[in-house]
Amino acid sequence: MLRPSKGIHLYASLEFNIRPVRGPHDRWTRHRFRPVNAPVNLLNLLPADAERVLREFALAQGEPAYRGSQIVQHLWRNPVEEFSQITTLPASFRQRLAERFSMPRLNVLARQRSRDGTQKFLFSLPDGQGIEAVAIPEENRTTLCISSQAGCALRCAFCATGRMGFQRNLDVWEIAGQVREMRLVDSPVSVTNVVFMGMGEPLLNLPSVIAAIRVMNDPLGLNLAGKRITVSTSSFPDRIRELADSEAECSLALSLNAPNDALRRELMPKASHFPIDELLDAARYFVGDGRRRVTLEYVLIKGRNMSPVDADELATLAHAQPFKLNLIPYNPGRHSPYERPNEDDIDRFVARLLPTAPAVTVRRSRGVDIDAACGQLWNEYLMQKKKPAKGAA
Ligand code: SAH
Ligand code: SF4
Repeated sequence: MLRPSKGIHLYASLEFNIRPVRGPHDRWTRHRFRPVNAPVNLLNLLPADAERVLREFALAQGEPAYRGSQIVQHLWRNPVEEFSQITTLPASFRQRLAERFSMPRLNVLARQRSRDGTQKFLFSLPDGQGIEAVAIPEENRTTLCISSQAGCALRCAFCATGRMGFQRNLDVWEIAGQVREMRLVDSPVSVTNVVFMGMGEPLLNLPSVIAAIRVMNDPLGLNLAGKRITVSTSSFPDRIRELADSEAECSLALSLNAPNDALRRELMPKASHFPIDELLDAARYFVGDGRRRVTLEYVLIKGRNMSPVDADELATLAHAQPFKLNLIPYNPGRHSPYERPNEDDIDRFVARLLPTAPAVTVRRSRGVDIDAACGQLWNEYLMQKKKPAKGAA
């Protein structure tokens, strides 16, 4: 029997060979039983757990124990598409591995390259759902913006993913697998940073997100330090605390988008169930003793949240926090009732924030010619950028 690592709730479903699926009436509670001898998906396990399972399997097959660590190298670090490609293993053992285990790939439906080097990937999942990821190269890093859910239940008024509604949560392998795919595709992409700013609300899929981050942190996994991974959320103070207390190492971005609860209720009706004060308390808890970083995200929407009064309120609010403020000019995408502000509007808003607000950055769009920011999949992530906006502190 698989022995799950502490806190990886997902393993419970592996142990009992059941997994939630969407049903016609109640898509959150219906369950389907998988055949008991269905192949175990190694990408849904922490590398150490996968290694243990593989070692036990190897020994049972009369193979040496070191086969476990030999195979685990090819799950994430130096991934292969199928076991038959691990040519250091005896052919008959590779065959038996393939019967007992799986390491599924995401299917790349489309890959678009922008003139500025940004690449957008459209993946299809085994049940036909689609998700997107965007790779954004900068001078000395490449950030991959990944999805945590297909669709999103929160339906923020300005967000294209919100308009899709909720489809389903992604499994661990589907989340971390977006980074893995970058190592497997033709002309591989060398990802140095990950942001959860693609489709979905990560904190509404927290167990899988935590497990996926642990796979990313793990030297035997994707080997990305916590400061290189950022979870972006719109709400849920208790879950922010749960993430802080978990074994996942990451930074946090809080999508504020309005300087007061009344305006936030208009723009983010469901996410604003918790007042801004409670969210900021949780964000301070996340920072803890200063080991982790939090950024406040603020999408700039022309004529909606950019008045001088909005700027003053936001400046006062940000001034009281130990967090940086990240301004994101709205990307209207298609069929959006909202507009992107022009450069003058943005400069005026930034000038009004200063000098009261602490460090302010403005995120500029990338991959515009491939629609890489089509409502959701975000571009250049400036949280880690040193360079503040013109005149910023
Ligand atoms: N659900 C999470 C993460 C995904 S959204 C969250 O809301 O934080 C990631 C970021 O993209 C959020 O800051 C959100 O406010 C922003 N965003 C959504 N649609 C956008 C758009 N059309 N233009 C600019 N930013 C957008
Ligand atoms: Fe969901 Fe985030 Fe979009 Fe709001 S902004 S609908 S929380 S993905």
